[in-house]
Formats: sequence, C-alpha cells, structure tokens
Amino acid sequence: MRPILSKTTYMYGLQCAKRLYMNKFHKTLANEEDEITQSIFQTGTDVGELAQQLFPNGVNAQGDEEFHSDITVLKTDELLLTNNIIYEAAFIYNEVICAVDILVKKGDEYYAYEVKSTTKVKPQHIEDAALQYYVLKNCGLKIADFSIVHFDSSYVKIGAISIDKLFKATSVLEEVGDKQSSIETNIEAMKLLLQQSEIPIKEMGKQCYTPYDCNFSRHCKSLLPTVEEIEVIPDNSIQVEKDLWNDFTSSIQYPLYYFDFETIMYGIPVFDYSRPFQQISFQYSLHVQNELGGNILHFEFLGNGNDDPRETLIKQLIIELGTIGTVFVWNVTFEKDVLKKLAIDFPQYAVGINSIIDRLVDLMPPFRPNKTVFSEAFNGSYSIKKVLPIVVPELSYNDLIIQEGGTASFKYGQMNNLNEAEKELLRIDLLEYCKRDTFAMVKIFDNINALI
Ligand code: SF4
Repeated sequence: MRPILSKTTYMYGLQCAKRLYMNKFHKTLANEEDEITQSIFQTGTDVGELAQQLFPNGVNAQGDEEFHSDITVLKTDELLLTNNIIYEAAFIYNEVICAVDILVKKGDEYYAYEVKSTTKVKPQHIEDAALQYYVLKNCGLKIADFSIVHFDSSYVKIGAISIDKLFKATSVLEEVGDKQSSIETNIEAMKLLLQQSEIPIKEMGKQCYTPYDCNFSRHCKSLLPTVEEIEVIPDNSIQVEKDLWNDFTSSIQYPLYYFDFETIMYGIPVFDYSRPFQQISFQYSLHVQNELGGNILHFEFLGNGNDDPRETLIKQLIIELGTIGTVFVWNVTFEKDVLKKLAIDFPQYAVGINSIIDRLVDLMPPFRPNKTVFSEAFNGSYSIKKVLPIVVPELSYNDLIIQEGGTASFKYGQMNNLNEAEKELLRIDLLEYCKRDTFAMVKIFDNINALI
C-alpha cells in the first residue's frame, strides 16, 4: 500500500493544514533552504548516527535509499527476522509510513528509540513518537518501551566523548499511550484534506514558527494584502526622564568599559570541559574610556575557529578589564551566564571572572518601554539594533556584512572549512560586527548624556 502520509508530513499537518497541503502539491513554492537550515539538518543526521553507537552492531534498513520508502519497509521486514538491532526501521500502516531511529528486540518485545538533537523532551517529540508507536503497534510489534534519546545537558566532555553519558533516554511510553485515541482522527482528517482541490485557507500566526519554522513562510507572506502606503514619518524624538537617568548613572565608575561576547553552541561538545549546547565564547569586543571625556580605546579577541578559544580569551579579558570601573553590557543575563560557566570550567580564573561579574551593569533596562529613555521610533523594542539608529542616527548595522549574532556564530563555525584568504575576510567581518555592538553602546550612552 503506497503511503499518503509520513511522520514528517503528519507533523506538518499538526502544525498547519496549509503546510501539509502545500508540501504535497506545491513544493516548488517552499522557501529556498539557507545554509543555516541545511547545517541544522546535517547536525540532526550526525547526532542520529552517533546515537546508534548506544546500541552497536545494528543494521541500517535504509541502505542507500534517500528517503524512507516501501523499499525500506520491505528491507525492515527481512531484517526483523534476523536482527535484534535495526536502525531506521520503517513501517507502513493505514497509509502512513514512519521510521524509528533505533529498534531493539529483546525476547519477543521491542524497545524503540527516537533520537533528538535537544537537551530535553519537547511536546512535539511526544506527538512524533505517538505516531510511530501507533504504526509500529498496528504492524504487530509488541512495544515494551518507547524513549526519546536526547543530550544530557549535565554531561561534561573530558577526553573522548562518552556516548553513554552524552545521551540520555527518557521513556515517553505513558504520554505516547495517552495520545493514541487522537492519532486515527488526525490521520483521517489529513487524508481528507489532501483530497481537496483547493489550497486550505489559513491565516499566518503563531503556528508559522512553532514548534518549527514553516518553510512556506515566504509564500504566505507574499499573499498578505498590501496596505495602501501612506508615508508615516516616525517621530524620532527622544524623551529622557532626567532624574531616572541620573539615578542610573550615579553609581557608574570610571574607567568605563563597554563589553560584548559572541558565542557558539555545539550539540556534541567539541572541547574538554564543555557541555552539549553550551554557549562557548569565541569572541569579544571591548571599548574603554578611562575618564570622562577621554579617548575611547578598543580591544578585541577572536578565536581561530579550531582550538578552544576560552582560556586565551579569559586571560586576555582579565588583563584588559582591569580591576575597577563599570563594565557596561547590553542584556546582562547573557554575559553573566557565559562568565559564570567560564568560572566553573576554568576555576583557576574564577576569582578574576567573578570580580568582572560584580562590575557588570546592564545598559539595556533604561530603554525598556515606559522606563527612562523613550522614543516612538523604538516601536516598543529595546534591542540595541533598534535603539542605535534612533539615538545615534549616523550609526546602524546596515553597512556590515554580518549584521546579527546568529550569523556571526554560524560563520565562525564554518571558519575551518575556509582557505586562508577567505578566513581573513571572515575575521574582518566578525571583528567589525562585534566592534559595532560595543561602539553602539559608547555612542548611545554619550548621546543620552548629551541630551540631558
Ligand atoms: S507559513 Fe504559516 S500559514 Fe503558511 S503554510 Fe506555513 S504555517 Fe501555514
């Protein structure tokens, strides 16, 4: 029986009826996959393959097939007779095909494992596993347990990766059982939908990016009615609550430091003394003003894309930040968390790092709505990217090649694949981007002071 739905398309259907329909009949209208999305998929595949080592010596039912298909199903049927551990075992029931990452037979019972590149079980994983359980069970398999295999966020890599400790299997058998009554109804509704001749009407909303970003977002956006453009000149004027600003600045102490980290997260830890998906600081920018009205000096650090950058970064940072003076950051939670982890992973520098933490001052809160600094043109946002061009009209991020942290992190992760000339260009772009973040703070702080 040819499948009509797969695990992936069933999940599309749960997210949005239109996404399911578009994927089947109008695939060409999907967003083009960018390199960041491709790399996320690749990571998922790599993690799946690594997790197979939890149950070594299994056989892969998928073979050279690019997608799970009836061939994989036939191969699975054969393997079930001879093998106790099967990877990517595929089954069809009720015109739904799905494959389970790892299937282990013990006696006459089966243990199913679905691998996810996350540090915990998420609600969408339960939906996904519930469908697999439904198909496997109805194909006659006695399922003793069904687990999601995910990273254990408390695992610290020291030496070679320990697969058994890196991953954690969490049983979802009970949750999956609770979902069974709705599966058949969902499947029938989706099949009916796929018989329609018209694209279902669905307005864009929260479902477009949760639990996953929808790959038809560009198409759906293009259908939104264009509002007759009446040119509205935004009111760029800035109001400052003088007393509140003076309160905020009263405790600052020179030298003033303006500091910002860039970080990268690796699901499978790359460096010793790091955990799955830990923020690894690979870069910082630091502007310093030693006294009121004094010259602005600049310092920076950028890893080489290969070695663990953290220890060299900490040593340089402790020297450059000195022992006194306010350290301004934009959104202190992030910088504080990264510094705290550095103090844990490199305890020999903990005293120096903790004294930096004590000096951090968040420059962001005065720009929150209804706080100290207000402009209609902020549009309710207090992101530095939004605040900067209003408070400092001559400065923005638009002239930079790298304009936001996600791209900086992704590009740094790719650095090792580049030749020397490309690497050098990337280093310049990364340095320029991070430098803008701290220079933005310098100028914002100066301009607000000048205003009052
Ligand atoms: S972009 Fe939103 S509305 Fe359009 S298909 Fe995707 S989830 Fe549905």
